[in-house]
Amino acid sequence: MKYGFGVDIGGTTIKIGLFSIDGKLVDKWEIQTNKIDNGKYILQDIAHVIQNKIALQNLNKNEIIGIGLGVPGPVTKEGVVNGCVNLGWKAQKIEEDFKQMTGLNVKVGNDANVAALGEMWQGAGKGYQDVLMITLGTGVGGGCVLNGKIVSGVHGAGGEIGHMHVKDNEKSACGCGNHGCLEQYVSATGIVTQARKKLLYDERSSSLRKYFSLEAKNIYDEAKEGDSIAIEIVNNVCKILGNSLASICSVIDPEIIVIGGGVSKAGDILTSGIKKYFQKYAFHACANTEIVLAKLENDAGMYGCVKLLMK
Ligand code: ZN
Repeated sequence: MKYGFGVDIGGTTIKIGLFSIDGKLVDKWEIQTNKIDNGKYILQDIAHVIQNKIALQNLNKNEIIGIGLGVPGPVTKEGVVNGCVNLGWKAQKIEEDFKQMTGLNVKVGNDANVAALGEMWQGAGKGYQDVLMITLGTGVGGGCVLNGKIVSGVHGAGGEIGHMHVKDNEKSACGCGNHGCLEQYVSATGIVTQARKKLLYDERSSSLRKYFSLEAKNIYDEAKEGDSIAIEIVNNVCKILGNSLASICSVIDPEIIVIGGGVSKAGDILTSGIKKYFQKYAFHACANTEIVLAKLENDAGMYGCVKLLMK
């Protein structure tokens, strides 16, 4: 049996998994992301942990197909990371640098893109080759896998669904600097911002008013309990998502849409709402595209990183 390492590099923690190439997670662990000096120690830290694991597990280097890295920033086809604000990285040839550091085969991908690949390999998209994934968390990420390959694009911006423009005349700015991005309305933070605005001008009573620090989960929970304002907010989120996903599908026409990220824990209320609007807005030929919840949760990125290493 051969093995591969999947490394999901986040702004606060780095998740590392050892996988057998038939898709089983053998072992996983986490280290803190050391962002000192513009993240210059991050790769060294990962290399160190992996070398220890190889020794501990008594692995031979020729049993290891390599290390896949998922990073929170745009990645070009050549494995150049085009800057990661969360890590302090500027443009850097990560693939080449890490290959030299470890002497192993290395592949790099954008974190949301590799999560989509992971779901395709061993998660909700298993058995499919054309998968669109959207990740609803603090922000909104996405990944598009066509013919089993990530569409990363010329600038590494492929799959940046969260920054599709969906609304004019938005006064607040998105994290990316634009105004009116999808992320501003349907991410966990976006939903809360929209709810706060609504609670200000809508005078109806609502159980949402009892929360001192309102969270996206509270809004979904209260909608499930029948609170009319919460229902309207969730309905609006589903409408925007259904509309955006329908637009994407008329361009790439995937077999399945996978919804992941912390917000997706809301479950059926979210998927059924998205489906309703997706069917309303989609081009007739793809109006019945399957829409499902992700399965691998926080491990999807590690799985995808290992899949990146396979031909
Ligand atoms: Zn944006």
